[in-house]
Amino acid sequence: MKEIIITHARQNNLKNISLRIPKNKITVFTGVSGSGKSSLVFETIGAEAQRQINETQNSFIRNRLQHFGVPNVDKIENLNVPFIINQKRLGGNARSTVGTATDIYASLRLLFSRIGKPFVGYSNVFSFNNPQGMCPACEGLGYVQTVNIDCLFDKNKSLNEGAIQFPTFQPGGWRLSRYIHSGYFDNDKKLKDFTQDEWELLLNAEEHTPRNPSEEWGKTVKYTGVIPRIEKSFLKKDSKENLTRKETLKRVITTKECPSCKGQRLNSKVLSCKINGKNIAGCTALSIDDLLSFIQEIPAGSYASVIQELEKKLLSLIDIGLQYLTLDRQTDTLSGGESQRIKMVKQLGNSLVDLLYIFDEPSIGLHPKDIDHIVDIIRKIRDKGNTVLIVEHDPDLIKIADLIIDMGPDSGKNGGEIMYQGTFRNLKNAKSKTGSYFSKARTYNKSPRSAKGYLEIKNGHLYNLKNISVRIPKGIMNVVTGVAGSGKSTLINKVLPLSYPEITVIDQSVFTASSRSNLLTYLNLSDKVRKLFSTTNNVSEKLFSRNGEGACPNCRGLGVEKIDLAFMDDIEQPCEVCHGSGFKPEVLQYQYKDKNIADIMNMTVLEALSFFPKSDFEHELSLMIKLGLDYLTLGQRLDSFSGGERQRLKLTKELHHTDKIIVLDEPSTGLHPIDNEKLLSFFDELVRQGNTLIVIEHNLDIIAQADWIIDIGPGAGKSGGTIVFEGTVENLLSDKHSATSAYLKKHLN
Ligand code: ADP
Ligand code: ADP
Ligand code: ZN
Ligand code: ZN
Repeated sequence: MKEIIITHARQNNLKNISLRIPKNKITVFTGVSGSGKSSLVFETIGAEAQRQINETQNSFIRNRLQHFGVPNVDKIENLNVPFIINQKRLGGNARSTVGTATDIYASLRLLFSRIGKPFVGYSNVFSFNNPQGMCPACEGLGYVQTVNIDCLFDKNKSLNEGAIQFPTFQPGGWRLSRYIHSGYFDNDKKLKDFTQDEWELLLNAEEHTPRNPSEEWGKTVKYTGVIPRIEKSFLKKDSKENLTRKETLKRVITTKECPSCKGQRLNSKVLSCKINGKNIAGCTALSIDDLLSFIQEIPAGSYASVIQELEKKLLSLIDIGLQYLTLDRQTDTLSGGESQRIKMVKQLGNSLVDLLYIFDEPSIGLHPKDIDHIVDIIRKIRDKGNTVLIVEHDPDLIKIADLIIDMGPDSGKNGGEIMYQGTFRNLKNAKSKTGSYFSKARTYNKSPRSAKGYLEIKNGHLYNLKNISVRIPKGIMNVVTGVAGSGKSTLINKVLPLSYPEITVIDQSVFTASSRSNLLTYLNLSDKVRKLFSTTNNVSEKLFSRNGEGACPNCRGLGVEKIDLAFMDDIEQPCEVCHGSGFKPEVLQYQYKDKNIADIMNMTVLEALSFFPKSDFEHELSLMIKLGLDYLTLGQRLDSFSGGERQRLKLTKELHHTDKIIVLDEPSTGLHPIDNEKLLSFFDELVRQGNTLIVIEHNLDIIAQADWIIDIGPGAGKSGGTIVFEGTVENLLSDKHSATSAYLKKHLN
């Protein structure tokens, strides 16, 4: 039972591979993007471990879970209970904070209920999610939202003309029908001519049955004013509609600190309870290192165990480099890297052993110095008696492996094999892209380009920035470095755009397009594909659209059916009628060359380049290849791309421009070191066209090629926020203060 034994794995592109993974060790999976790392680690090993756990559930749950994808593998033996730690951000809910997510807030509540003065109640009273503890004005959120009437209504219009400037309240929208059929208004009268009573009815009326509605009015339907309607549908709950209407909501809703609790979320009685002059909200507003000092000053007395528990939890966050966070920070404002580290700390605190931990690129968002911290944690997790699997590109993390499994040789169909299995020391001899990367000498930019003017930031002081002034050279590639939490994104993504709103920030956030969009539509190539099919077969173009006539009637073109598991995340399974293609079966009889439209959707970018006429397709497809995205399939849904893939995809839209200021946050995410070279040549091209690049990056190969470096630090949070170094790589290498300098020197040797 010392090994996990996998026999004949064939998931996605895996080539019937068999392997053994040692238990209680760290195994790192390397290989270019699309080589099959995730197919093996997540979709085969993780999925099978998950499935085996589900088998142990009662039959009710099991019945509901039986659709859970069964990995394509003959056998996996000796699996453990899996715990998957990915880059997904922690829950995006306003009631979740660093304190609640780490359970530290629960310990703090316990402490206040024991020794706080005056005594106000048991520990649950100190919770802002508990009706007895929450501030009644904001219900524990700390902020209040109001509808901004001037932005919501265009008073120069009538209801019929679209006076209510919100999607479903526009002419033809279902929410507007609730107003125009109410019988209350002259639907052609401009709002500015409404009487006071009409305004009141339109705006604020509480729910009631209208007196004389028109015939279209449904009998059971109640009338509600626009403001309470929006409050109920959008402000009081987290709905899917909230997400889709995010931009509109931003425009019509004003959010401000709750005037009653001043953002502290709790009612005044709870806030009156103090320890050494500080209430619980005051404690959660301290950075974690300051909170530790505060706790350590409390005389232990008979509550030593509560205090010890708190100290232990706070120390573990400090150990992992998150000392700068405050417990009241909402988890949905944390970066992916910060979220991931919080998940890790939670694991370290548990007493379970013999688990199978699976990490997805834990280096993301982390400076080499931060990586030292998480290396410690990962080793501790192993030493507690767990098995650790890591998918990773970062040399500093690959180094810690007890065993490396390198996948390749390439992506997609040309991948799915094991190229190397062994120690880090011998990896350089592997006949693979990873091997060739580790066997090559590392270089740095010895002839940096010089500035064509400057962008200037004066006295930046948001969050932790200490009134810093800095000049960012134009027309070259700038790299901004520093440990996580030092202030890089604050300076570049928040402060810089205040003076230069024309900046293009290319981030990893999800596309706003609908779930029906795929790679082809994003590249504006779907019309061209439909035209080819339509002219070849002499039928309507619309047949080849999953949004139109060609859609499978069962799944309405989505290719998947959602299964609502009520108490868990929804899961999706391929549609039974179209087997996932999303097309009506009869559409698939039409071919272009030897392929039908579903085959086209499964084609990779690389295959498509030689399949389609060059004139119409070459430009977009070769850009994708330049960005290392050759392995993506044309029909892949936009919502399935990883953060790094999304960001590189967004970059394809920038090459037409000159003289732009382009900001990129960690573009190397998810890229194999070999593909970083491609990314760098793409950057080169952007700069040659006259653009200015500002890249926030931890990857030492990218830092080494910068024309100009701005290093922020020295530490994180309040120990950061100053400029530690500005200059060329050559000068950075002889700098004595910057942590980045030390790591870069080590890397280049
Ligand atoms: P890596 O993790 O090494 O980047 P993946 O395991 O994600 O690689 O992908 C390996 C291959 O399998 C790629 O060609 C990818 O496009 C393909 N693939 C991944 N997920 C799916 C899927 N759900 N359906 C079909 N093919 C997939
Ligand atoms: P980096 O980009 O270098 O990782 P950030 O600019 O994200 O660092 O963070 C710098 C500091 O500002 C940190 O102390 C962080 O906790 C704080 N900070 C960042 N975003 C917010 C926010 N939305 N609210 C409060 N503090 C924030
Ligand atoms: Zn309040
Ligand atoms: Zn279907």
